[in-house]
Amino acid sequence: MLVVDRLPGPGQGSTGASSAVVRFNYSTLDGVAAAWESWHHWADWAGHLDEHPAGSPLARLCRTGLVMLDAPAAPKERVLQMFDKVGVRYEVWDAAELAARVPGIDTGRYGRRSDLMMRRSGPSRPGSWARSSIPTLALSTIRSSPRSTWPTRRDEGESRSCSATRSTGIRRANGKVAGLDLADGQHIDARVVVNVAGPWSSALNRLAGVGEDFTISVRPMRQEVHHVPAPPGFNSEHQLGPVVADLDLGIYVRGLPETGC
Ligand SMILES: Cc1cc2nc3c(=O)[nH]c(=O)nc-3n(C[C@H](O)[C@H](O)[C@H](O)COP(=O)(O)OP(=O)(O)OC[C@H]3O[C@@H](n4cnc5c(N)ncnc54)[C@H](O)[C@@H]3O)c2cc1C
Repeated sequence: MLVVDRLPGPGQGSTGASSAVVRFNYSTLDGVAAAWESWHHWADWAGHLDEHPAGSPLARLCRTGLVMLDAPAAPKERVLQMFDKVGVRYEVWDAAELAARVPGIDTGRYGRRSDLMMRRSGPSRPGSWARSSIPTLALSTIRSSPRSTWPTRRDEGESRSCSATRSTGIRRANGKVAGLDLADGQHIDARVVVNVAGPWSSALNRLAGVGEDFTISVRPMRQEVHHVPAPPGFNSEHQLGPVVADLDLGIYVRGLPETGC
């Protein structure tokens, strides 16, 4: 196996920039189910890793719950149907309950619809996000785990990685994939190419001449992360306030673990 990444190492694309919110509100049943299953791995991260080098830091899950404001972009009826199928627990709140449960929240309706819902995750307390920059930490833990099969530059055998090199072309022969062209001039022969280019994966598909019939496509978009003080009472001494998602405004808000949890 050869891993090709145009960045210097794993997890340095959008994964490294992620705010580490473990959420389940996705637009497809497969997405919701995969996120729900992943939550259980985050909840038992040490167990999931099986082994990790002693003394190395581990990502940890803070259970906060997630308040999802109902918005036309993600109608709650559709999401709740998928939650029911998968087994994600939730409560539906009105504005008064929202104001009582989330100190400092503005319950004004600035989008087109009203109802509010609270999505519960996890068996006891609502579960929800792993620490900031945790995706990078989690990946480096996986890489350094004794059982890791992540290829390194030193691997001479079946596995190796090729970092800081962009795929610029996907060669085909007889209607099948034949290999990759890289920006540094290398040509790699391969019978199978797995596209895990995240937000750039539609662009990579275009290089391969596939994807025109796909019903979902993706593209990289600029995202911004801002740090502001939380309103009084939002976080308590031992418990962070919930993640709040407002898809009308296209934003998520969450606390920092250093300030609570
Ligand atoms: C600011 C921000 C906050 C986010 N917060 C959250 C959150 O809280 N919770 C959540 O669930 N999701 C969040 N997301 C989304 C989440 O980070 C992504 O959905 C996820 O990381 C995608 O992982 P991936 O492995 O598919 O892609 P990536 O991590 O982006 O990996 C794709 C890799 O492909 C490489 N690549 C691309 N094109 C080429 C090419 N031509 N040749 C070689 N290499 C190439 C890139 O260098 C990159 O390393 C956030 C995203 C951003 C940007």
